[in-house]
Parts: sequence; C-alpha cells; structure tokens
Amino acid sequence: MPCESCASPSAAIIRPKDRSRLCKGCFISAFEDEVHQTILSTGMLRGVRRLILGVSGGKDSTVLAHVLNILNARHKYGVELCLLCIDEGIAGYRDKSIEVVKRNESDLGIKLTLLSYSELFGHTMDSIVGKTGTKGNCTYCGVFRRSALEEGAGMLQGDMIATGHNADDVAETVVMNYLRGDIARLRRCAMAVSERSESSERITVPRCKPLMYAYEKEIVMYAFYNKLPYFSTECKYSPHAFRGNARTFIKGLEKVDPKIILNLIRGAQALEASGRPDARSPSIRRCLRCGHACSSAQGICKGCTLLEGLPAE
Ligand code: SF4
Ligand code: ZN
Ligand code: ZN
Repeated sequence: MPCESCASPSAAIIRPKDRSRLCKGCFISAFEDEVHQTILSTGMLRGVRRLILGVSGGKDSTVLAHVLNILNARHKYGVELCLLCIDEGIAGYRDKSIEVVKRNESDLGIKLTLLSYSELFGHTMDSIVGKTGTKGNCTYCGVFRRSALEEGAGMLQGDMIATGHNADDVAETVVMNYLRGDIARLRRCAMAVSERSESSERITVPRCKPLMYAYEKEIVMYAFYNKLPYFSTECKYSPHAFRGNARTFIKGLEKVDPKIILNLIRGAQALEASGRPDARSPSIRRCLRCGHACSSAQGICKGCTLLEGLPAE
C-alpha cells in the first residue's frame, strides 16, 4: 500500500486520527507539523522567553519535550526550554519515572529541576495516604501538583508552563465536566492557554497544552518510531473511577468515528467563546497563607486548606 503523502510504496501506518495511510517518515513530519500549527494558531508561545516543560517520565511529557526541542530549533521560536519534574513521593512509581526524566535531560541537553512535595509541603503522597487512606488521595495530589508546578515555574522565572495533556485527556475532561454539571470548568478545560493575567502583577504563570490536538494513540506511535524511552506503569494510588468511565465512553465512540475526540474539544471551545465575559473565570487573588493564586472568597487557597486539614502526626 503506497504512502498517501509521498507515494513511497510502503505505507507503514494507518493514522488513528483520520485513517490516512502514511510511511514512517511522513507520519513523524505530519505529527510535528500539527504540533507546530497548534502553537502558531493559538499564539501560545507569543512573548514567551522561558518555557517550563512539566515532565513526569510518562509518554506524553516525554514526547512534548522531544517535539518542542525539535520545533524550537527548526522554526526558531527563540524560547529557552527548562524541564521541571514534580516528585510526589510515591515509592515504586515516581522514583522509577524520575530515572526516565533524567535520561531526557541528558538526551535533550535541557536542564532539569526536581521539586518534591516533601520539601514544599512537608509531606509525601505516601505519608498523606498513610494518614487519610486512599479515598480522595488524587484531590490532594492534583492540588499539590498544581501548586508545585507554579512554585517551580516561579523559581525558574518561567513565562509559561507547557504540559503534556493530549486530545484524549482533554476530551475526557470535557465529558467529566459535563457529567458533573460543572459548566465553569467545562468552558475553561479545552482552552489551549489558560488566561494570561492582564495586570502588571502576575499572580499565576499561565499554562499551555501544545499536544492538545494530538491523539493518544499517535503519541504512543511517535514515541515508538523515535525510540523515546518512557515509563508506563500506573500510579499505585490511581483510582481513576470517574475518569475511567469517561475514558471507556470516549474509546467506544472513537471506534465509531475518531473525529468525536476533536468534536468534544471544539464543542467546549465554542461554549467558552460564546460565554458571557463575567461568567468565565472566578477572580484570582493571592492566598493569605502561601501567596499562590487563590479563587476562594475566604482568601485561603485549596492547597493550604488541605494541608491544614491533615491529621496531626
Ligand atoms: Fe497523584 Fe492520583 Fe495521579 Fe497517583 S493517580 S500520581 S495519587 S493524582
Ligand atoms: Zn510518505
Ligand atoms: Zn495557600
């Protein structure tokens, strides 16, 4: 079967995204060009001098670091890249994936900064689960990771944080927010770039998702064809109960029509674009305890509230 792009006689791949047949070289070029188009069309790197890549050693952030390193050189973005890895303190999981991140650092020649929950919050996820059990552990972990990324990006004087969220992740989040009836989050979750602060005093470092239109299956194929090392074991505390439902639902629909993933993302974006300006985001101020961004009326951020609620030693 010939490649549909270069007419070489041996197409190696049927793209999961649109079922086109491509040879390996054309698939790699198409994947990289599409990420470049996402960056251009959303303006996500406009004005960015130092971009902080949130990396975990998993496939998505490994591909993110690899592709951005290539595109930055190829298209002369002029952005300084930094790797930032957050160590949640989960024995047998994050310690293993950090070994992969260190390999990314030497393979790509991009400096890595490691920050741990224990140095930032005085707790590891292992110790938090020891105190509170496995119910709701991901709430602690998600809130602390957000705060840790923010802290790390501030320390590194980054202008923007890029994360490895892929199209499947975003579509799952859209479905989850629908199912929860959380329309405010539904509006925001498919934005390519979180809102940039208009004021001169920057409270949060904005975030972007350069892989948000890349299908998970294609990220796995891209990593495979480029022989990128990544860590694929799941976290031992992963319940994924609710996200798992959304995931199964979307995987089933993807078999019927792969475009459904992009349709979900575009739908949420259309909702955001059509919303009343005053209905979009809660107002952001500084947390009275830690100084990070906070949207609660009491002035204490979610991270500080969770830390204060942990049982004493
Ligand atoms: Fe943290 Fe939950 Fe993810 Fe494990 S599954 S790393 S506890 S958010
Ligand atoms: Zn080809
Ligand atoms: Zn706080």
